[in-house]
Amino acid sequence: MATYIPPQEQDPLDLAWMREALYMAEEALANDEVPVGCVFVKDGGAIARARNRTNEWRNATLHAELEAIDHLILSHPPPLSTITLYVTVEPCVMCASALRQVGIGRVVYGCGNDRFGGCGSVIDVNSSSRLNSHPAYIAEGGYYREEAIMLLRRFYMSQNPNAPKPKKKATRVLKTDIPPPPSLSNTPTPQSSRPSSTAPTSRRSGSIPPSSLNPTVGDHIQSGQTEGEDGERNPDTLNSVDGHVSNP
Ligand SMILES: [Zn+2]
Repeated sequence: MATYIPPQEQDPLDLAWMREALYMAEEALANDEVPVGCVFVKDGGAIARARNRTNEWRNATLHAELEAIDHLILSHPPPLSTITLYVTVEPCVMCASALRQVGIGRVVYGCGNDRFGGCGSVIDVNSSSRLNSHPAYIAEGGYYREEAIMLLRRFYMSQNPNAPKPKKKATRVLKTDIPPPPSLSNTPTPQSSRPSSTAPTSRRSGSIPPSSLNPTVGDHIQSGQTEGEDGERNPDTLNSVDGHVSNP
C-alpha cells in the first residue's frame, strides 16, 4: 500500500527531487517514450537517473526504475535501505517487486497506476506481509501528481509509431482537468525503513486503498507496445497503461 501525501504536507526537498524525476520523464516524452522518469537519492545526492526506454530497445522491461538499478547496483550493493526513489508514476508490479528485492528504503511517486501499479493499485507488492522474504518499503504518492498526469496525456495525444496498430489521434483533445486526489483510509503503512537522509517532515494522511490514487482519468500509462490498442479510446479513459509497463 501507499500513502497519499497532500500537496500542503509535501516536503520541499521531496518536491525538488521529484522535479528532477519529471525532467527525466520530459526527456522520455521528447524521445517518443512513455513519459516516466526517476531519480535515486542517497545522502542528499542523486546516485542514478533514468527514464523509460521500452520503445528505443523494443524491450518492455526497460522501465526507468530497472534501468537505474542496473547502473547503481554495482556501486551500491543491496540492501538500498538508505536510498529513496523518486519516480513520476507509481512503480508497476515488476518494478515494485524489484525494488523490494533490492531493499529500497522509500519510494516517492507522482500519480498512481491503476492498471499495473505494484504499490497498492493492483497488487500490494511494497508492503505485503506475504512477501516476507524481502523487507517492506514505504511508498508515498501525490508529488507533482498533476504534472505527471499531464505528461502522460501529452504522450497519448500523439501517435505512438511503435504501437502494434498505430492510429491517428488527430481528433483527440488534450484534457487539462485533473481528477481529485484519492480518498483516504486509515490503513497503516510500513514506517520503519524510511531513510533518514531524505525524510520529509510531512504528516501522513492515510494509506491509499487500491486504485484510489488513480482517478478514473488520465492517471496512467502504458507500454508503447500496447498503446496502439488504446487508440480508439476516448481521451477520458487514458488510464489504461503503464507507460513503462509491460503488456498485461
Ligand atoms: Zn515498471
